[in-house]
Amino acid sequence: MKSIELTPLQPKRNQLAAVACKIFGHKYRLTKRYQSHLKEFECTHCKKQYTLDGYGHYTPLTPKMRRINEVYENFYITKMSRTS
Ligand SMILES: [Zn+2]
Repeated sequence: MKSIELTPLQPKRNQLAAVACKIFGHKYRLTKRYQSHLKEFECTHCKKQYTLDGYGHYTPLTPKMRRINEVYENFYITKMSRTS
């Protein structure tokens, strides 16, 4: 039986970009701006997603982080609608 060589899922360019990110840092592009001050970013090189933590530092946008952002956003909108 002849084995088929599988092509890697991640293109090599992405790996090189990831290395460049390690050296030069990520190039963040704003992808989402919430009504609250929260923002979400994507690195134009390695395509990884980031958000800001409570200290204003970039942190990877995990599903958990996104959920926290959404909960906070809902809380913010509810609060704003009550005060106005
Ligand atoms: Zn990057």
